[in-house]
Amino acid sequence: KLHNEVQELRGNIRVFCRVRPPSNNDAANGTEALATIRFPNEREAAQIELLAAGESATGTVTMRNHLFTFDRVFQPTASQADVFEEIAHLTQSVLDGYNTSIFAYGQTGSGKTHTLEGAPDSITNFGSDPATDAGAGLIPRAVQMLWSTAESLKDKGWKYNFEGSMLEIYLDTINDLLGKTEVDKAKHEIKHDKGRTTVSDTVVVPLDSPAQVFALLEKAKRRRQVAATLMNERSSRSHSVFMLRVRGQNATTMEACDAVLSLVDLAGSERLANSGSDKDPIRLKEAQSINKSLSSLADVISALGQNKTGTNHVPYRNSTLTWLLKNSLGGNSKTLMLLALSPMAAHLNESLCSLRFATKVN
Ligand code: ADP
Ligand code: MG
Repeated sequence: KLHNEVQELRGNIRVFCRVRPPSNNDAANGTEALATIRFPNEREAAQIELLAAGESATGTVTMRNHLFTFDRVFQPTASQADVFEEIAHLTQSVLDGYNTSIFAYGQTGSGKTHTLEGAPDSITNFGSDPATDAGAGLIPRAVQMLWSTAESLKDKGWKYNFEGSMLEIYLDTINDLLGKTEVDKAKHEIKHDKGRTTVSDTVVVPLDSPAQVFALLEKAKRRRQVAATLMNERSSRSHSVFMLRVRGQNATTMEACDAVLSLVDLAGSERLANSGSDKDPIRLKEAQSINKSLSSLADVISALGQNKTGTNHVPYRNSTLTWLLKNSLGGNSKTLMLLALSPMAAHLNESLCSLRFATKVN
């Protein structure tokens, strides 16, 4: 550790869970009934308990409790600042040379983008108004903090360089959200060399200030929206990956570090209704591809969790997502899985699936 007092972590994988409050959309969709969710033990062993119908051995349907334990659970009342407070340490470790990745997982509408980016426009305007800043998510807060920490380390001889890229993975294929053309037609190849990952033909932007990062994210967001109108709300069915590479050099001590912070807004985890009207072959392909990449991610994280000796086989190659993030998941890196949950009764089954997914990587 170079200068960040990172608390001794129990392994390098953390799983947090956040339940969003009910929204206007829930009411508009006529699904305003709340699920029964309890938080029996808030702090020590953060727990969440769901009450759902279950079938007994004799076939009678009864209510059943499902209890899950995570590193941290955030209730619907938790503010963006509360969530960031628990994650700030982790994002700082990129300045110490740790590859760090944060994944937001959950069904569409569960609060992934809200947690990572925040309320609409809160990134672009971040820092200009405390009222709108309150809604800003993890990304603008982390970026702001990294720059100010880097600034304060100048006294100790540290000089940092930042550069960013923004990719989308759709149908297991990489699209550059910062590329020259609005819709990316290039074929991108992932290469790993001496712990560094490069993706051919993608734009990597040198970043001198938080404002430049916010402009980059804004550009990527517009691109995603262009694609969304072309491809019919595609953004919830693709993963978006923001990568911030941080290189530091200390002129006094001759120390150096080089690491990547990856912030990943995963595709919606909801399963395609197998009985419903959704027989669209593109939807089916999308659903299969998402399912495969999310289960590959769970497989990789769980293999790494059991891989104390570093000798196990880790199946990075099973999806583009895990192959792209190979160096950010394995080795000397830190990973946080942020599980986003809806509080609504109508979403209870998906919530249970998400909680089970998270248990697999926990
Ligand atoms: P996802 O990215 O998982 O599809 P969103 O982040 O877009 O979901 O959230 C769905 C809706 O719920 C959005 O309107 C968002 O503003 C709102 N929302 C999500 N989480 C919260 C929260 N913690 N507080 C207030 N509103 C939230
Ligand atoms: Mg989203």
